[in-house]
Amino acid sequence: MNIVLLGAPGAGKGTQAEKLVSEYGFTHLSTGDVLRAAVAEGTPLGLEAKKYMDAGDLVPDEVVVGLVEETLKADPEGSYLLDGFPRTPTQAVSLDTVLSNLGQELDYAIALQVDMESVVDRMCSRRCCRDCGAIGNVSDGPTCPKCGGEMYQRDDDNEETVRNRIEVYNKQTSPLIDYYHGNGILVEVDGNKTPDEVFSAICDVLS
Ligand code: ADP
Ligand code: ZN
Repeated sequence: MNIVLLGAPGAGKGTQAEKLVSEYGFTHLSTGDVLRAAVAEGTPLGLEAKKYMDAGDLVPDEVVVGLVEETLKADPEGSYLLDGFPRTPTQAVSLDTVLSNLGQELDYAIALQVDMESVVDRMCSRRCCRDCGAIGNVSDGPTCPKCGGEMYQRDDDNEETVRNRIEVYNKQTSPLIDYYHGNGILVEVDGNKTPDEVFSAICDVLS
């Protein structure tokens, strides 16, 4: 089974992805995580991507599609949870092609719907673990509750960049809701509830 998680920045994709991976054993493919790792390693791709990410703009489609294609081909039998990809209609069409070449398809596109008002607050108080990638909040303190690593604030989780990311989402990513509705695989979930409630709504769909 392959699923895509759709939603505005701060909709809770990363939080639900962690839960889905532990419950169903998906291979989690977050293009944001892959790009941040490339930035941290200072690879040529990372240096190129950082400019876009710091501004809250999208990294060019060719770059991201190339990364995803590489990962999917490395384990063509895998069961993938795609998080933060696709983010444009071009990426969505490319994904369909890559999957069909591997004899696979998408089973569900799960769209997390949230009030835009709450998104900016969620993002600006969000903290992430440098070591295990866990997602938390500034109120959790400086140490990761899961592994003891350092909790830090992402460079793009500041108000100005968050506002641009929301605009980019509305313009470039929200059309995917219609795209997947048209394909008959769209499931909309209320993302304003607690993480556990959202998770159980998603599990109802998958089981
Ligand atoms: P968010 O919390 O906004 O969902 P992500 O971690 O998914 O954040 O992505 C962070 C940044 O990485 C984006 O603002 C963008 O610059 C880049 N990025 C991630 N995924 C993609 C993608 N599929 N296409 C283009 N850029 C991407
Ligand atoms: Zn941790």
